Amino acid sequence: MRASLAELAARTLAAGTLEGLPDRHWIDGGWHGARAGGTMESWDAGTARPYARFAAGDADDIADAVASARAAFAGPWGRMTPAERGRILLAGAEAIRRHADRLAVAEALDVGKPVGEADGDVRGAARAFEYYAGAVDKLQGDSIPLGNGYIAFTLNEPVGVVAQVIPWNYPLSTAARGIAPALAAGCTVVAKPAEQTPMSALMLAEILAGAGLPPGVLNVVTGTGAAAGAPLVAHAGVDHVTFTGSVATGRKVMQAAAQNITGVTLELGGKSPVVVLADCDLDQAVDGVIGAIFENAGQICSAGSRLVVERSVHAEMIERVMARARRLVMGHGLRNPTLGPLNSAEHRERVAAHVDGARARGLTPLTGGKRAVDPETGLGWFFEPTIFDDVAPADPLVQEEIFGPVLTIQVAEDAGAALALANGTEYGLVAGVYTRDIGAALTLARDVDAGQVYINEYFAGGIETPFGGNRLSGFGREKGLEGLRAYCKVKSVTARL
Ligand code: NAD
Repeated sequence: MRASLAELAARTLAAGTLEGLPDRHWIDGGWHGARAGGTMESWDAGTARPYARFAAGDADDIADAVASARAAFAGPWGRMTPAERGRILLAGAEAIRRHADRLAVAEALDVGKPVGEADGDVRGAARAFEYYAGAVDKLQGDSIPLGNGYIAFTLNEPVGVVAQVIPWNYPLSTAARGIAPALAAGCTVVAKPAEQTPMSALMLAEILAGAGLPPGVLNVVTGTGAAAGAPLVAHAGVDHVTFTGSVATGRKVMQAAAQNITGVTLELGGKSPVVVLADCDLDQAVDGVIGAIFENAGQICSAGSRLVVERSVHAEMIERVMARARRLVMGHGLRNPTLGPLNSAEHRERVAAHVDGARARGLTPLTGGKRAVDPETGLGWFFEPTIFDDVAPADPLVQEEIFGPVLTIQVAEDAGAALALANGTEYGLVAGVYTRDIGAALTLARDVDAGQVYINEYFAGGIETPFGGNRLSGFGREKGLEGLRAYCKVKSVTARL
């Protein structure tokens, strides 16, 4: 880790907080307290203690933010040339990199995640702004051949004011992957970060303003889903909603947006399989399986929470995965452990309830399965790395998203059976496959019902590769050029000559 990052992390850990954190909404290019005056606490998951306060927004604050975004859409942002917008987004990417230490430490404190992982998220956020900065002035339409009597072409117009509703597991990454393409397309944004993790979106707004983003182009209103999120997605002045979160909330968001016929992108949950075929490089597969479920303590929509393994390598995979899981070291995120805490007491209870439910059905974990604390301090909302072996396809451990460090193993007789198990849930977000047989890998890639497939490297790809889900995992795509198109309305123009 960089010396400057390690030093700030250590200082923050000792102080219990980070100086100068934002504590109000960012609306129309400045800080504003909640109109109703309310505030909320932000908690450090590694110590289970509150460490900061922020504004508890409601419908009035949302109305201010949407009005500001509408004015900016009609005003400076809408009038700028694409090249000028691109220069500001590129300056934004550089500014994010300059503020990387503070962003990473704030994110680690707010989410609980290891600061090294948070630093990776910051680099990814900068890269998102860089990528879309380069795409702004290449957003070309088509010319359409109608024959000699006509000239027809398409225009890509920005959809308008975009709402971004953000979850707590990857607050900065999710904000960046939604905000950067929306701004690139010429839209303006009102973002509502999760009430558990408001800091990085607010910091991002101030950083981008410093890089030249005009007032009103990006607004951030904090508060709960009920008080601030619901009025945002139901607001008639919003033209598109990008929601990342749970299936249950996604349904409500879609219903609210339906009242105004507002378009939605839904990035929801997952129960993603990592298929390990017998001919694979087992070292590579073990690395992949461990990262897929224990990174960010399993709090990842695209976590590889199901290991689907061919029977002939089942015993060896278990031995190796167990050995690696036992070596994970729990600790406060700012000490950069290999396993951080869960984000909240409430969420840890949800994870524990899944494991307790499995026990009640007669299943016993091979390892883990209990609440835990930071071994250095005795504090925090930790949960042991947990593995259940040979679980039946219909069991809730296979079917339900747990969103914690809980791996469920399913055994397959061959590649065909592995595919059937991989497709055996209502989700369709990600599938991973480990094999040396590229034909087998591509056959699975073709036949699996998932928005993205990772071959021989789980989480492979970046901002360039489109991302999104099928079925209960949602619809619409973020990242890549697909992510940019989500924020465009296509207009066709046809002239009779
Ligand atoms: P959540 O649905 O509880 O909350 C997500 C966001 O929605 C928060 O900002 C919350 O305040 C807001 N919200 C809550 N109620 C709302 C309402 N009625 N109207 C508008 N906004 C509302 O989800 P969570 O527990 O914060 O996040 C975990 C879930 O998110 C998991 O299911 C995970 O798989 C999913 N997720 C998906 C992706 C993806 O890209 N597919 C990425 C990260 C997380």
